[in-house]
Amino acid sequence: MDEKPIVERPPKLSTPSSPFGDMMSNHLFVLWDVDHTLLETRGVGRKVFAEAFEIATGQPMFAGMATALGHTEPVLLEETLHLNGILCPDDGLFERFVRAQVAAYRKHAEELCARGRVLPGAERTLEALSHQPNIIQSVLTGNTRGAAEVKLAAFGLDRWLDLDIGAYGDDDVNRSALVGFARQRSEAKLGEAFPDSDIILIGDTPRDVEAGHLAGVRVIGVASGASPVQELQSAGADYTIESLDEADIFDILSVLLRSS
Ligand SMILES: [Mg+2]
Repeated sequence: MDEKPIVERPPKLSTPSSPFGDMMSNHLFVLWDVDHTLLETRGVGRKVFAEAFEIATGQPMFAGMATALGHTEPVLLEETLHLNGILCPDDGLFERFVRAQVAAYRKHAEELCARGRVLPGAERTLEALSHQPNIIQSVLTGNTRGAAEVKLAAFGLDRWLDLDIGAYGDDDVNRSALVGFARQRSEAKLGEAFPDSDIILIGDTPRDVEAGHLAGVRVIGVASGASPVQELQSAGADYTIESLDEADIFDILSVLLRSS
């Protein structure tokens, strides 16, 4: 009797042993944006921001919050302060806001999990990359470090990321300057200096693309936020995808590495 052959479905992602062949002799440093690239807070971030704003300023955020499109937290706060008629904030306001925001995220962590979500494909992609011995992953985000830690931990995404070597909104107001912070921290911790060609940013806004290019590194644009693929392409993204769910990250990295 003939036995039916066992048909093995090919894995959607390349196997850990052979995704890049000889293309990658050094480590590759992948830096993830957080909001709308890995996760969405679906209103909880705005609620937390409003609570922290009121604690830090002593007044409600009656005129609302400025639109966050790849801004660093200090820029988002400054624009929101202006929107709400606070034109000359005192020196300690940002620090008060940061403390209050982290505390509010901790307070609302359960709600964050319930209302927010990990974006499709994000966890699978983080995990697949984490199995690669030559790939280091962290974040490059406009969030402050405290806020990023709470948000990523709430969804369990921090297990794939080395947050000690990331860069955050409380490092610098300019997103492009954050690449340097991640580079310095990775060098200090890992003893390895990453050249520009070995650093890849992944983000959802033209500001992510601009930040990477000003810093001399390449950027994968993911249209999982407000910016469609065409907008990310116009901004100059080195590779664009609709969603992490439809993409094979190893194929993308292979293309980028071949072109370097
Ligand atoms: Mg984003």
